Amino acid sequence: MHRNFLKTDQLTVAFGGIVALSNVTLSIAEGRTTAILGPNGAGKTTLFNAIAGAVRPTGGRVFFQGADITKASPSRRCHSGIARTFQITQPFSGLSVRENVMVPLAAGGMSMKQAREEASTYIDFVGLNAKAEDPARVLSTGQRKRLELARALSTHPKLLLLDEVTGGVDRPSIPELLNVIRRLREERNITIVVVEHNMEVLLGLADDAFFLNRGEVIVEGSIAEVADHETVRRIYLGDA
Ligand code: ATP
Repeated sequence: MHRNFLKTDQLTVAFGGIVALSNVTLSIAEGRTTAILGPNGAGKTTLFNAIAGAVRPTGGRVFFQGADITKASPSRRCHSGIARTFQITQPFSGLSVRENVMVPLAAGGMSMKQAREEASTYIDFVGLNAKAEDPARVLSTGQRKRLELARALSTHPKLLLLDEVTGGVDRPSIPELLNVIRRLREERNITIVVVEHNMEVLLGLADDAFFLNRGEVIVEGSIAEVADHETVRRIYLGDA
């Protein structure tokens, strides 16, 4: 197991005068599920953006599998195995579920026949077979999240960044979604980093955790340790 599968070293991101991340040093271990916790505005999405290459850090470095990717383009990072999903899902709403998964495959140069076959395996993996020919716009939020996972799978990720895993998903649909995420790790050997507000979900999903506040790592450890930390309880859970 690679302990520093993904590593940030003194990572700083500032937007004008706003410091969204300040000297964040963290390591994500291979094959594990790591949670990024923190209140609104803590810098969680900015951290994902900096790892995926969507924002340029003001300072510090990002390493993936030992290689310095700080200056790599988002597409190079994607090719090297980093994929992400977004807080707000962004499918092509008029296209079918199958077409949504086929688009990135065909854009990567695959024949339509091959893209169709490969898309089917991912749609099957996330349990959307019955919806494959439906337009994405009719999907529930939970189904949209699973469609996003299928699209992310099509890039053959080694590391998957999941923003707001259960955000907006109705309670009964959550277990099915979490089950797909667990299987990504178990069956596809994908290392997972999640941003998620629901502590109950995190305790059942994550191994490790980092708690951010105002752009800084305040607490790190196992998810149970972090969840139990006084500062986390006070800020994150609203404990008195
Ligand atoms: P939330 O839980 O609300 O999504 P977060 O932890 O993901 O919050 P970020 O979205 O990373 O936090 O934001 C961190 C800080 O950086 C906030 O103060 C935010 O307003 C600011 N910020 C983020 N992106 C930009 C931007 N493109 N331009 C200016 N400020 C930004």
